[in-house]
Amino acid sequence: MRMKKQPENSKSVKIISMNKICKSFPLEMGGEQQVLFDITFDVNQGEFVSIMGPSGSGKSTCMNIIGALDTPTSGTYKLYGKDVAHLDTDELAMVRNEYIGFVFQQFNLLSKRSVLDNVMLPLMYRGLPMDERVRRAREMLKRVGLEKFETYLPTQLSGGMKQRVAIARALAGNPKLILADEPTGALDSKMGNDILTFLKQLNQDMGITIVMITHEFEIAQYSNRLIHIYDGRITYDGRVPRDERVLQKHL
Ligand code: ADP
Ligand code: MG
Repeated sequence: MRMKKQPENSKSVKIISMNKICKSFPLEMGGEQQVLFDITFDVNQGEFVSIMGPSGSGKSTCMNIIGALDTPTSGTYKLYGKDVAHLDTDELAMVRNEYIGFVFQQFNLLSKRSVLDNVMLPLMYRGLPMDERVRRAREMLKRVGLEKFETYLPTQLSGGMKQRVAIARALAGNPKLILADEPTGALDSKMGNDILTFLKQLNQDMGITIVMITHEFEIAQYSNRLIHIYDGRITYDGRVPRDERVLQKHL
């Protein structure tokens, strides 16, 4: 792989800055349910962070806010120094396209489009000429080891390969940040480990910042920092402990 090391001081660049983020959803019978309470943390360029917590603890809600898919009820959120807490739908879409590459549990590939077309997708709104888009998408496919599969349909690939296509697509837009929501949730453990090793390599060799949601402690071991959320509150934020029981102590 052709990869460049980030400059020494790159770790001091703030990618994510969340300050007292709260999120409530209206309830059908009236009133509201508060799902996030005063979530405060920063992520610097080059970090690989896991957000862990049991089902229903607010991980996806938090991820939707980080990914500019949703806005908080209160609090401030800056992505790469840009205040995104109060943007409208179109502005949020622009921020997503410019800064973030998404990797989802279910891959979210277009099943009737070729592998190459899928990887070219985030480049559609960049105003690049067609040949430049194709060139860049091919480069990304090479990076994930799938250059021989560009004409295939996603349905012809294994789960692990599909997730590699999704990672190539995420990388094509040259994002500041990769957000992965349970990226190995639909894969067997061998393929899952390959994908995690690959994400770790992207982080180490290219300095790509990664925030990954998982409910599995073993998966969090691939990252350098763990944020544990329980009932909408951060109960642990620090190095990834070797023993999961450390997290229980902080509840
Ligand atoms: P996790 O990803 O940790 O499993 P979620 O963030 O998906 O948790 O959900 C946390 C809580 O917020 C749950 O009780 C869920 O029902 C509620 N919730 C999530 N999204 C919505 C929504 N769009 N409308 C109403 N309630 C929601
Ligand atoms: Mg979730």
